[in-house]
Amino acid sequence: MNAGVAGSLFASLDWVSRDLRPILTRALDGHEVSVEGGIALTGAEGRDLHALTLVADELRQRQAGDVVTYVVNRNVNFTNVCIKHCTFCAFSRDHREEEGYFLPVAEVVRRAQEARDLGATEVCIQAGLPPKLDGRYYIDLTRAITTALPELHIHAFSPEEVLYGSVRSGLPIREYLTELKAAGLGTLPGTSAEILDQAIRDIIARGRITVEQWVDVITSAHALGIRTTSTIMYGHVETPAHWIRHMALLRAIQKDTGGFTEFVPLSLIHSEAPMYSKGLVPGVRPGATGAEVVKMHALARLMLGATFRNIQSSWVKEGPKLAQLLLGAGANDLGGTLINESISTSAGAQYGQLVGPAELHRLIRDVGRVPAQRDTVYGIIRTYRDGENPDSPLDKVDDAEARFGSYRRLIASGEFRFTRG
Ligand code: SF4
Repeated sequence: MNAGVAGSLFASLDWVSRDLRPILTRALDGHEVSVEGGIALTGAEGRDLHALTLVADELRQRQAGDVVTYVVNRNVNFTNVCIKHCTFCAFSRDHREEEGYFLPVAEVVRRAQEARDLGATEVCIQAGLPPKLDGRYYIDLTRAITTALPELHIHAFSPEEVLYGSVRSGLPIREYLTELKAAGLGTLPGTSAEILDQAIRDIIARGRITVEQWVDVITSAHALGIRTTSTIMYGHVETPAHWIRHMALLRAIQKDTGGFTEFVPLSLIHSEAPMYSKGLVPGVRPGATGAEVVKMHALARLMLGATFRNIQSSWVKEGPKLAQLLLGAGANDLGGTLINESISTSAGAQYGQLVGPAELHRLIRDVGRVPAQRDTVYGIIRTYRDGENPDSPLDKVDDAEARFGSYRRLIASGEFRFTRG
């Protein structure tokens, strides 16, 4: 948006409700939105929601410009066997279940190599917590990938997995992370955050990593120079006030460490999630509404944009069409190509497991923005200002499920069946 148009749109904001107008005006003037202000903004509806979205888009323009980034990566979820029973998780299986699988290290490396050969710069590894896992497993897996593929960035192991590795190995968190880094770990996904509110966590996933433990793993990683992403899961039993307090906690950490690369809102995919499908959590909502998804991204830009810069819109959770529209509501990144997406697919997401660079470019250009391929820590690999598209072998894959396999095929086939050693 050019300065003249922005100026006239925002000159008075006299079409916005009186209680929200000063909060938006202050945000436009570059002031931090307080927790109280953020909570007030969660009530925006109708034209007020449009105003919130416009302000978010203006701040996105100032903070991140017109470039929309994406990363060429592959997910490898090496096992679905898990000792936890998070009620939002449709991916995990008990170790006694027929559908439990565990990919050998050689198969994880093969998948990473296949991705590298197709132009991926990152492999993203997260999985369940299988019983009696060797405590050094995550370190050994990292070393095996780095040894075979030293140029690939390893973005791996949620704080829940780091905690599990630490407990199983007897190494304190900081030492465990130090060993992971020495083995070649690049960055950590900041998942397993859900809502950083212990009372809500106890309702949806009792026994899961606590808020305090999550913050400990993340800040320990940042102190060691291991950057992390950050996420929020919403659309279940939380209230919008929880969103804002969650963001305020992340903002406080970021001011202290500067270690977060991005913030990724992840709306609950409800249909196969046990909390919903089995009625395990009374009052759980069927995911976020469209208006809530828009509001979340706009609020993220207002609350976090100044310190995080990067707000991601997830095509996996929202589908490519809504993810594209979120680029006008504060987002400046479309995430990764993924190649194998299992977590959301198992929960009932309908959007496939691969979106290639050409399609990401089309989504970005279609809203008047400029596509750029980035690395995991937001270093720009190439900006495509001239209308050119990358010549990616990923775009020539007709049937991603046949070529790369899928969660459905993996759990149905006995090839990598989990067995207790
Ligand atoms: S969310 Fe992670 S820790 Fe929880 S049950 Fe699923 S795989 Fe296990």
